[in-house]
Amino acid sequence: MVKVAIIEIQNLKKSFGKQEVLKQITFDVNKNDVVAVIGPSGSGKSTMLRSLVHLEKIDGGSIRVGGESLVQDGIYSKPQEIKRITSKMGMVFQHFNLFPHLSVKENLELAPRLVKKESSKDIQKRSTELLEKIGLSNRAASYPANLSGGQKQRVAIARALMMNPDILLFDEPTSALDPELTGEVLQVMKDLAKDQMTMIVVTHEMGFAKEVANKVIFMDDGEIVETAHPDKLFVSPQFERTRTFLNRSF
Ligand code: ADP
Ligand code: MG
Repeated sequence: MVKVAIIEIQNLKKSFGKQEVLKQITFDVNKNDVVAVIGPSGSGKSTMLRSLVHLEKIDGGSIRVGGESLVQDGIYSKPQEIKRITSKMGMVFQHFNLFPHLSVKENLELAPRLVKKESSKDIQKRSTELLEKIGLSNRAASYPANLSGGQKQRVAIARALMMNPDILLFDEPTSALDPELTGEVLQVMKDLAKDQMTMIVVTHEMGFAKEVANKVIFMDDGEIVETAHPDKLFVSPQFERTRTFLNRSF
């Protein structure tokens, strides 16, 4: 099978003041990949993910999405291009970031309506389908405050899918949830993987990474220490730093 790169990241560098948070990060994500990113708190996982969708500005390196350059050798494309390129990616945050004053259905439909490329009927059809997919058809009129954390995160995933992204980025999607609610969110993500959705998932859920990812990236101190298939990385990690992390946490 020919590998089609959805995201190509080369030599990404980012500092906050004097602190180098990302040091020469390089990796590719191919179509249908599920990439799990693991590593200790503060290792740069969120900053890396946020850089991809231009929520952080990088200091050096290149990011290509679907073959198009978001930033090349530290030089960003024009704002219009950046907007178009980042719109190929959907992001799901740890704290859901739903609009509190909008119903579930309105949360889903807001962004597509603002883009104004589609008829209202098409947008409503998709929100209905996606609510069904996440098992929340009966909560379309509810407000976020009246949902459980697990339900909110499922809505956030559906909202990201409304824009038909080529790739979904997840930043610790279950970390803010009570343990008994993580399962329902992980199940939605597993279903997406089964449907061949391309995903990058920053996670502490090693079970999910083992079961669903085809590539695991271990980050530590702003660097990628090791990248491997989960069968390899979790069973026979090549580096002491990886072994220490895996032994410590789980
Ligand atoms: P992770 O997601 O792996 O926990 P982060 O990417 O959030 O790591 O953070 C990496 C490092 O960058 C940490 O030391 C963090 O304190 C620092 N950092 C993150 N965001 C900012 C910011 N906006 N300003 C200053 N330092 C930051
Ligand atoms: Mg983080």
